[in-house]
Amino acid sequence: MDKKRVVILGSTGSIGTSALKVARDLPNRMEVVALAAANSVDSLIEQTQEFQVKHVGIYNKDKSLALQSALPDVSIVTGEEGLCALAQLPEADMVLISIIGTAGLKPALAAIEAGKDLAIASKEILVMAGDIIMTAAKKAGVNILPVDSEHNAIFQCLEGQHVKNKEISRLILTASGGPFRTWNAQDLHSVTLEQALKHPTWSMGQKITIDSATMFNKGLEMIEARWLFDIPMDRVDVVVHPQSIVHSMVEFIDGSILAQMSNSDMCFPIQYAITYPDRVENSLKPLDFGSLGSLSFESPKHEMFPALRLARKAGTIGGTMPAVYNAANEIAVEAFVQGEIRFTDIADIVEKTMSQHQQQDTQGNLDIVIEADQWARIEAANQINRLG
Ligand code: MG
Repeated sequence: MDKKRVVILGSTGSIGTSALKVARDLPNRMEVVALAAANSVDSLIEQTQEFQVKHVGIYNKDKSLALQSALPDVSIVTGEEGLCALAQLPEADMVLISIIGTAGLKPALAAIEAGKDLAIASKEILVMAGDIIMTAAKKAGVNILPVDSEHNAIFQCLEGQHVKNKEISRLILTASGGPFRTWNAQDLHSVTLEQALKHPTWSMGQKITIDSATMFNKGLEMIEARWLFDIPMDRVDVVVHPQSIVHSMVEFIDGSILAQMSNSDMCFPIQYAITYPDRVENSLKPLDFGSLGSLSFESPKHEMFPALRLARKAGTIGGTMPAVYNAANEIAVEAFVQGEIRFTDIADIVEKTMSQHQQQDTQGNLDIVIEADQWARIEAANQINRLG
């Protein structure tokens, strides 16, 4: 089957709109069968009309009336149950999950249960429930296609290589280093929200842009990579690469390294997830090495960006600890955005919250993960209050 029929959960955000660009670019390869958003009614109406979609979800139930009156012939669902129903639509081949936060967890499992391939852009899904999702996908025989540029790059490097897991010595995630790469540690304390929101190479949502500045984004990606490719945490590495052209690399035990490159446009990884295992021509701008000049690499500054060390710790401990890492960071970022804490407090809050957590085995149970997530949010808020 050449044409993939895709459900997009989170269609109005940055990944969702890039996925629709891919759909516009490749009408013979991608058909959008359902769309969902949290709140953005106006863009959802526009998207539904453009792609003539028959099934639409809105997470916020209060917005469903406005949506229904603008789209009288479309079936509208709401809330988490609604997103789960869309994830199981009989006419869908694949579900792209690009919802921010934990709202994508249950729809992801619902899609797997219904035998749909899953394209994952939401970090929380694999960070919080990597073992649960990967086990369920294996059992159901569905593909998990990573949309994040780094994991998509690793996926491409491993594709068609007949690689045995033990032949991989390292997964090397590249990081742009964010806007503070060249700063010194002292100045980091006084970072303003405006400064944290200026990302040098990628244009993304607010939360992920701040996560890039603290490098928590890369920490979350380390944990995701551990689950996606079934590689122990100590074989997941990070190198800073400011140009964001090499999207990640795989090093094999014979010392060879494969890298995947393209311009930094999310349409590249999204398209590969959609057309996999095929490669398809598109209208994206190809890489021009001549005008690029040089690519550079450097080691991350661990003392300035504790997020990487904490991610390694959380991923190594496993169980509910990665969910705590994720949730505490979310609360701390929110407090930074509100002006309640300093930029450098974010990592402190996460570290303190992790150190208070009694790690539990997830036992394949999503409720245990969600409970740990809730606990971490409360504990992180307490830690923030203690800072005064
Ligand atoms: Mg990324």
